[in-house]
Amino acid sequence: MTLFLDHDVHPLRENGLFIGGEWIARSVSGRSFDVRNPATGAVVATLPDGGAPETEEAIERAVEAQRSWGTTTGPYRARILERAFELMEEHADGLARIVTQEQGKPLAEAIAEVGYGSSFLHWFAGEAERIYGRTVPASQENKRILVIRNPVGVTGAITPWNFPVAMVTRKVAPALAAGCTVVLKPSELTPLSALAVASLLKEAGLPNGVLSVVCGLDAAAIGDVMLDDGRVRKITFTGSTRVGKSLIRRSADSVKRVSMELGGQAPFIVFADADLEAAADGLLAAKMRNTGQSCIAANRVFVERAVEREFTRMIADRMGRLRVGNGLDDAVDVGPLINAAALDKVERHVRDAVDRGAELVLGSSRLREAFFEPTVIAGVDDGMLVAREETFGPLAAVLPFDTEDEVVARANGTEYGLAAYYYTRDVGRVMRLADRLEFGIQGVNDGFVSVAQAPFGGLKHSGLGREGGSEGIEEFLETKYLSLAV
Ligand code: ADP
Repeated sequence: MTLFLDHDVHPLRENGLFIGGEWIARSVSGRSFDVRNPATGAVVATLPDGGAPETEEAIERAVEAQRSWGTTTGPYRARILERAFELMEEHADGLARIVTQEQGKPLAEAIAEVGYGSSFLHWFAGEAERIYGRTVPASQENKRILVIRNPVGVTGAITPWNFPVAMVTRKVAPALAAGCTVVLKPSELTPLSALAVASLLKEAGLPNGVLSVVCGLDAAAIGDVMLDDGRVRKITFTGSTRVGKSLIRRSADSVKRVSMELGGQAPFIVFADADLEAAADGLLAAKMRNTGQSCIAANRVFVERAVEREFTRMIADRMGRLRVGNGLDDAVDVGPLINAAALDKVERHVRDAVDRGAELVLGSSRLREAFFEPTVIAGVDDGMLVAREETFGPLAAVLPFDTEDEVVARANGTEYGLAAYYYTRDVGRVMRLADRLEFGIQGVNDGFVSVAQAPFGGLKHSGLGREGGSEGIEEFLETKYLSLAV
C-alpha cells in the first residue's frame, strides 16, 4: 500500500490488506486500486485489490480463530474493546483526517463521526459483560430449564462509504463483544478508515484472525465468497436496499442469520404548534449532516400549511449561510458529494420537481466539480421523484399538508421505514404518531438521533435487525435451551 496522506497518521503506519492479523502488501491478482479524495480527485492511497482468494484466506483464519475467541470470557473481550476505544479517542484527529480525505466530510464532522464510532466500542465493551442466560420454572419437579447464549460464529460484514468509521464499529464491536470473528469488506471508496480501525484493534490486543479486512474493487466477488461459504453463519450489511435484498436471497442457501441496514426516505414533519426555530435547527442537522448522504437524512419535509411560508424561509436562511468546500479547509460546513452519480441524482431530483411545478427557493446548481449548493424547493407533491427516492444530497424538499391523519398516511406511503422526525408541542399527538408512523427510529423534536445506546434500524424495506443498544449484541448471539432432569 502506498499512502499519500498529508501527515503521519498513526493508525495507518502499517501496510496493505489486513488478513489473519498480517498486513498484506500485494494482492493475489497483482492488481491494485486508488483511493481518491472526492473533493479534489487526488489519490490518497493505493491499495492491493483483494478479491475471492483473499476472502477465502480471511474466512479460513476466522474459522480457526473462532474456536478460541468464541470461548473467551466476556470480561476479557470487554477489556480489548475498551482499550481500542481509548486508542481511538487518542488518535481521533488522525483518524478523522483519514475520513475526510477519503470520504470528503468536513473535519469537524469527521471528528464527530470518530466519536460516534468509538462509542460503539465502549458500549459493546459493557455489553460483553452482560450476556445473560436465564432459568425458567419447569412444570415438573424433577426438571430444570436453562437458557444459554453463544456467539453465532464467523460473521461477514459489509459496510458503506458514508460513515466509514462508525458503520464499521457499529458492526464489528457487537460481533467481537459476542465472541464472533469477523471478515469485513468496507466500501472500495473508503477502505482506509476501516484499515485504521483494524490497526487500532490489533494494537489493543485483538488476537490474529479474529478480524480481517478485505478491500477490493469487485464487491460481488468478495461478497459471493462470504455468502457461499456455509461456515460464515452471519451476514451484517449496511448499504442500498437493492444490494441488501440480493444478499438476503443468497444467504438462504446456507440459512445464515442476516442483519440489514438499508435505504431510507425519512419524513420530517413540522406541525403549526411546533417551536419553529428548534425545528429549523433540527432540520439542518437531519438534512445536512454528511452533505445529506445519510440513510436517516430528512428527505420529505412535510410542513403544516399555516406555517409553510415562514418555515421554508427559515430553513432557506439557514441553508444559504452554509459554506461549501473541501472538508480539510477551515470554516467549511458542507463537503463534496461522493461522486458524479451522486451529483447527477440531486440534479435530477431538482429538475424533475421544478419541471412539475415546484418552486425553487434556494440554490439548485453544481458548484465546481464535486459540490452541490444547499438547495430548497417548496410546493413539492408526493408524485415527484424527490418524494419517492432517497436523494442522498443537500436538497430540502418542502411538502405542505393540512391534517394529522393526512400527513401520517403520506409519511407512511413509502416502502421504506427507517427514520422519521416530527416537531409538535402536543404530547398526545406525539404518542399517536409514535404508534402510527411505520419507522424504526423517531426523532421527536430532535433532529439528531444517532447514539450507541439506542437500537438503530428500520422497518419494511429499510432492513432487518437492530444495531446499537442492548439489541445490537443479540444479533450476534444464538440461543440454546437445556432441559435438565435432576
Ligand atoms: P451505496 O449505494 O451506499 O454505495 P451499495 O449497496 O452499493 O450502497 O454498497 C454498500 C456496500 O456493499 C459497499 O461496501 C459495496 O462495495 C458493497 N457491495 C455492492 N455490491 C455488492 C455485492 N453484489 N455483494 C456484496 N457487496 C456488495
